[in-house]
Amino acid sequence: MTYIFANWKMYLTHKEGLALARKLQTVSIPDDVTLGVFPNMITTAAVKELLEDTAIQVGAQNLAWTPAGAYTGAVSAFIAKEIGLSYALVGHSERRYIFAETNTVVRKKIEACFDSGITPVVCIGETTKDLEEGNREYRIKKQIMKALEGLSVKDNQLIIAYEPVWAIGTGKQCAPQDVIEMHTLIRKEIKSYTDAEVPLLYGGSVDAQNVVSYIKLDCVDGVLVGGASTHYDSLISLLGAVQESR
Ligand code: PEP
Repeated sequence: MTYIFANWKMYLTHKEGLALARKLQTVSIPDDVTLGVFPNMITTAAVKELLEDTAIQVGAQNLAWTPAGAYTGAVSAFIAKEIGLSYALVGHSERRYIFAETNTVVRKKIEACFDSGITPVVCIGETTKDLEEGNREYRIKKQIMKALEGLSVKDNQLIIAYEPVWAIGTGKQCAPQDVIEMHTLIRKEIKSYTDAEVPLLYGGSVDAQNVVSYIKLDCVDGVLVGGASTHYDSLISLLGAVQESR
């Protein structure tokens, strides 16, 4: 299975998100591709309805770690499940570094997803500072440890997306050889906590031009795409490039 996950972030307005979802209604998705879109929280339920009769999955960009109660502004994994969402991004670097989400919060959100039957897409990745200070491996190992240590995981119950923060939204591409090395390290770390099947994605300035260089790698199970997934033409070109590469 190849995962193509489209993180629309806060790039699209409500109306723009609905318009893009409507255009996607007629797109055919190969059986071995899972296309998932992650609209903003206001738009998600309506996009889910629009895509109900398609193979396209809908996910949340973020969820609260608590199931219900007096948590102003929060949306739980149970509510996400109730409207039929399948996935949730957890620990995206924009949540970690702009909204100060810690590894502890990320872990609680993973557990909340498990409790509700949502598949968390756990984002990990080093910052430019980590790279410059030689802390790349340390950062990755720590994020994986905090996410997985002592966690009981079933096959495909959790997905990990390796997203070097310096490559997100910057146009700076992580060289495929670099992705191979990091994915090898990440798989080894995952293996030290669980024998379960954990799909491993790559994310960071992926577009129609470079997507094949990542998905053709044996160690890459799919891609998490931000900017290039927010316009119909660029998303369709990316999907087309994936299909042509088969
Ligand atoms: C992302 O939002 O996870 C991402 C990888 O963004 P972009 O593709 O724009 O770098």
